[in-house]
Amino acid sequence: MVAFNVPPFVGDELEYVEQAVKSHKISGDGTFTKKCNAWLENKFSAQKVLLTTSGTSALDMAMLLCKFKAGDEVILPSYTFSSTATSIIVGGGVPVFVDIRPDTMNIDEQKIEAAITERTKAIAVVHYAGVACEMDAIIAIAKRHKLKIIEDAAQAVMSTYKGKACGTIGDFGCYSFHETKNYSMGEGGALVINDPDYNERAEILREKGTNRSKFFRGQIDKYTWVDVGDSYLPSELNAAYLWAQLQQADKINDNRLATWQKYYDAFKPLAKENFIEIPVVPPECKHNGHMFWIKLKNLEERTKFIAYMREKNIGCVFHYVPLHSAPAGKKYCRFQGDDTYTTSESERLVRLPLHYGLTQKDLEYVIDTVKKFFGW
Ligand SMILES: *Cc1c(COP(=O)(O)O)cnc(C)c1O
Repeated sequence: MVAFNVPPFVGDELEYVEQAVKSHKISGDGTFTKKCNAWLENKFSAQKVLLTTSGTSALDMAMLLCKFKAGDEVILPSYTFSSTATSIIVGGGVPVFVDIRPDTMNIDEQKIEAAITERTKAIAVVHYAGVACEMDAIIAIAKRHKLKIIEDAAQAVMSTYKGKACGTIGDFGCYSFHETKNYSMGEGGALVINDPDYNERAEILREKGTNRSKFFRGQIDKYTWVDVGDSYLPSELNAAYLWAQLQQADKINDNRLATWQKYYDAFKPLAKENFIEIPVVPPECKHNGHMFWIKLKNLEERTKFIAYMREKNIGCVFHYVPLHSAPAGKKYCRFQGDDTYTTSESERLVRLPLHYGLTQKDLEYVIDTVKKFFGW
């Protein structure tokens, strides 16, 4: 069986987890959490990074920091994971969907401005498959209309746009370290804060509404409840696990990119003959090999393809029923403009196995099996 995903594991995870256990510090914000925060800040030249319990909670924090008022709107793509939309609702806003671009499956930057109303307060972009959105155009729109930008960079840890790390380009960036992502701590994530004015409130939101972080730094002599908040601190056990993987971040990235490139080179001829479509990476984007997708002719062919691959013991998956057609999407959100690509493109897309340590033998087997499906 060639599994669709195997969570990353580099070997030092258990040793670091053991260190955390033996230090008798297993709750949040201990040595390993601080090491991970500092590593991410240095590697991505980020003003401030706070490890969180998930990518979803990082998004929740970002939206809460925006302080939406009832009826305030946030523009986002419908082709994304539910968390991008639920976080807007948690933050008190209304999600407004616009269409995607068919080449990258990212939000279509040219359709954002038509969806802006006097209630629009922010744009939530998703760097799908670790390929950055057209950020220069999006920043220009945000400046013109005084909007915040939240980057859902759950899939884009180590990706860049014009040399800048994804997550550090907008006002807030949100990473995920779920087991399906490039680096994992089981469940976990991180919030990137690019304007230092938000540092203090972010710490308070993350610490159940208390100013405990300030207390631990010795800036105040007792801590107290000062604002709304939640529990967004991951345990040291999870942070220790992640620390092992951050130490080998480049190795993991190179390995994923090599697998991605092999798929790309192998399927280029098939794409040229119009059997399939393969990912487009714009020249200003450096991706992280998060995902390799192909697009088939239609939903029917995709269903046949997935069944064929399963028969050959290869796990292939599709994802994202567009959020505007999901039950909660219909209840809480609206789609602005035409759905030209969101539904039709999402129905054709399928993801091939890609994970750290996928063997050459398995990779070649997947490639040969895909070719056979098309009679190549
Ligand atoms: C994985 C993912 C999330 C959620 O991250 P969790 O860590 O699972 O909460 C949010 N947005 C996108 C685009 C994702 O891929």
